[in-house]
Amino acid sequence: MEFELSDEERAFQEAARRFGDRVLRTHERTIDSEGRIPPEVLSSMAELGLLAMPVPEAYGGMGATAVLTEIAAEEIGRGDLSMATAVFFLLEAGWGWLLSRHGTEDAKREILPPVCAGKAFLGIATTEPTGGSDLAAMRTRSRRDGAEFVLHGEKSFVSGVEEAKLLGGGHLTLSKSEESGFNFLYVPTRTPGISTQRFQNMGRMGISTGGLTYADARVPARYLLGTEGRGFELALEGFTVARTFVSAACVGAAERALETGMAYIRERTAFGQPLGKFEGIQFELVDLWTQVEAVKWQCRRAAWLLDAYTLKGDVSHRSEVERAVASVKLTAPPIAFECIKRVMMWFGAAGYTKDAGLELGLRGIMSYLVGAEGGLNIMRLILGRELLGREFLAYK
Ligand SMILES: Cc1cc2nc3c(=O)[nH]c(=O)nc-3n(C[C@H](O)[C@H](O)[C@H](O)COP(=O)(O)OP(=O)(O)OC[C@H]3O[C@@H](n4cnc5c(N)ncnc54)[C@H](O)[C@@H]3O)c2cc1C
Repeated sequence: MEFELSDEERAFQEAARRFGDRVLRTHERTIDSEGRIPPEVLSSMAELGLLAMPVPEAYGGMGATAVLTEIAAEEIGRGDLSMATAVFFLLEAGWGWLLSRHGTEDAKREILPPVCAGKAFLGIATTEPTGGSDLAAMRTRSRRDGAEFVLHGEKSFVSGVEEAKLLGGGHLTLSKSEESGFNFLYVPTRTPGISTQRFQNMGRMGISTGGLTYADARVPARYLLGTEGRGFELALEGFTVARTFVSAACVGAAERALETGMAYIRERTAFGQPLGKFEGIQFELVDLWTQVEAVKWQCRRAAWLLDAYTLKGDVSHRSEVERAVASVKLTAPPIAFECIKRVMMWFGAAGYTKDAGLELGLRGIMSYLVGAEGGLNIMRLILGRELLGREFLAYK
C-alpha cells in the first residue's frame, strides 16, 4: 500500500496550492462580494489544466486520475473558502467526466473543449421545485421527436444557470420519458423555450444558483448520454464522482480554517499567555485536526476506488465505492463547518467580522449541509442500504 504521492502528483499539488494561495486567496473576497469568478481566474485555471481535469486529452482535458482531481479539489477549497470556485471546479470535473464517458462522439467534440478551456459552463440539473432527494418523483418530461428530444418542466436550485447563459454551455438534465424511463440529456441554456431565474443565496456567491423552465425546448438527440431509459443510473454514477470532489474541497477548507486558527492562538494572549497554551483551546484544535486528518484519508481512498473501478467502468465493487463516497460526503462538510465555526470562536469578537475572512466559508459550506450534491440524510440512506440491504430502504 502506497500513501506517498508520486513526483508528478506532488508537483501538481504544489502548483495547485500556489494557484490557490496567489490567485484564489487574492480574489476570494471579490468573488464573494461581486457574485462572479473573474474571467482571468477561469483562464488561469484552464491554463493549469484545472478545468474538467478527468476529461481525456482528446476532448481538451488532461485525462487526470480521480486521485489527482481530488488533490486539486482540496487546494481549490483551501484557496477560495467561499466554495464558489470549488463548485465550478467540481461540476466541470465530475459532470465533464460523465459526459466524456457516456456522451456521443459528436457531443463530446462539440461540448467539452470549450468547457475545459473555461469558455463554456457545464453543470447538472436534477432538482425540481417539488424536491431533489426523491429524484424518481421528478416531473420534467422529455419525448423523442425524430432527431430531437423535446423537454417540458422545471428545475430549481441549479448551480451555474447565469454562467451557462453568459459564457455559453448548459446542464446535464435528468427527465422522464413516458415511453422509456429516464433520459439524461445535455441541454444548452440558450436553447429556445428555456427561461431562467436567479435565486438569492446566502453563500458561495461567486456562482449563481437558479431555476430553469423548459417550455417544449428542443435539443438534438446526439446530446443524450448513454441510451434512452438509462438516465437515472448515469446521474447516480456522476454523483458518485462529483461527491468525492465536493468532500475534498471541504477538507481543504477545514485545513485552511485550522491553519488560520493555529496562527491566531499562537499570538493572541489572554490571562497572560497565548490562547494556544490553554488546554480548553489546544484540545479542541487537536480533536478537530484528528477528525480532518481521518476524513482526508477517507476522501483519498474514495478517489482511489474511483480510479480502480468507476472510472474504468468496472461495477464489480459498486457497494464498496458507494460506501466510501457516501461516508465521506456525510463527514467532510460537517467537519469543515465545525472547524470554521470553532476558529471563529477562538477569534472572539474578531471572528464575527468579515476581516477574519472566515464567515464566507461558513456560508459556503452550509450549502453542502442543506443539500447540494445530496443531503446528509441521503448519504445515510445510501449507507443504510449498502450495510443492511435494499429491503431496509425506508422508501420505494
Ligand atoms: C447552493 C446549492 C446548489 C445546488 N446546486 C444544484 C445543481 O447544480 N443541480 C441540481 O440539480 N441541484 C442542485 N442543488 C439542489 C440539491 O441537489 C438539493 O438541495 C438536494 O438534492 C435536496 O433536495 P431538496 O433541497 O429539494 O430537499 P428535499 O428533498 O425536500 O429534502 C429536505 C430535507 O429532508 C431530508 N430528507 C429527504 N428525504 C429523506 C428521507 N427519506 N429520510 C430522511 N431525511 C430525508 C433531506 O436530506 C433534506 O435535508 C443545489 C442546492 C444548493 C443548496
